[in-house]
Amino acid sequence: MATNEGNDFRKKFDETGYDKNPSNILPQKLTLASKIKFRCHPGVSCFTACCGHINIILTPFDILRIRRFLGNLDADEFLLRFTTPTKLEKTDMPGVKIHLDENGRCPFVTPEGCTIYEARPTTCRYYPVGMANFHEGAAEGTGSEEFYFLVKEPHCKGHEEEQVQTIAEWRKDQGIDVSDEMNKEWMELVMRRKSFGLQATLSEQAQKMFFMVSTNLDKFRDFIFNSSFLDIYEIAPETLDRIKADDIELMKFSFKYLASSLFGTNDLKIRQEKIKAKAAEIEKKRAEKEKEADKTYEELKAERDKLHQKLKEQKK
Ligand code: SF4
Ligand code: SF4
Repeated sequence: MATNEGNDFRKKFDETGYDKNPSNILPQKLTLASKIKFRCHPGVSCFTACCGHINIILTPFDILRIRRFLGNLDADEFLLRFTTPTKLEKTDMPGVKIHLDENGRCPFVTPEGCTIYEARPTTCRYYPVGMANFHEGAAEGTGSEEFYFLVKEPHCKGHEEEQVQTIAEWRKDQGIDVSDEMNKEWMELVMRRKSFGLQATLSEQAQKMFFMVSTNLDKFRDFIFNSSFLDIYEIAPETLDRIKADDIELMKFSFKYLASSLFGTNDLKIRQEKIKAKAAEIEKKRAEKEKEADKTYEELKAERDKLHQKLKEQKK
């Protein structure tokens, strides 16, 4: 479970939404080789104390993995029962977070622990380690700094346990490497958007598309195969076969689609005939505008000539 500045998707808030936890981040930059003393297990006195009053944003991979764990739960049903819409931190990108129950507790927690432990979200896996990734505002391709830090909240007794391990070992043990690899391209999109700040907001249509693609792969698949999508994009038949049959492949493809539609990358190829048709449409519009401008000019000229003629006659 993580407080993750580059991926700051789990935070503790009080009832007013105020982040009551900033000072619990230890002021020390950690690397993969840094050692931490921590262990979480059912024997700790605080067991499951951290599974309430939190914001846990779900990545597309988190959603897919939990749905699979719950017996391939339908995406709409999953979203309705277990999530709440939210904005991804410091962006105008819509996403979802786990919907807490009336006591502010995660719906997956029981006194015995997390009922979806094997499929728990990425941010739950990180905690109490955070990862910071500073490249906001940096020019394209220039340096970014990545490091880790430790969150030490008073109620978390895991820090009093004797187990010592490196951050790399912690990541492996918690399955963070796999999650991060799966989330990587999507996280890059969010970070890229974040670097724009809120000045240039996404259109409502783009926001809806981002939300649908990031949270509901069932709908995205339907969009690919039952809309004009394939008339616009040129997708290799083997890719289509893969995304039809495999959710992970579909998810990876969805990241490329988002990169291409939101940031104009070349990840997806638009059909030549569509480009030509678009160019022809633009040219047609331009010619119409030119014709309109000519007509307006001629009308004004005729008006002016008429006026001059009238003035001339009055002078006579
Ligand atoms: S998903 Fe599991 S680990 Fe994460 S907050 Fe809920 S119960 Fe706790
Ligand atoms: S040790 Fe920390 S992470 Fe583990 S249950 Fe307790 S509060 Fe949560």
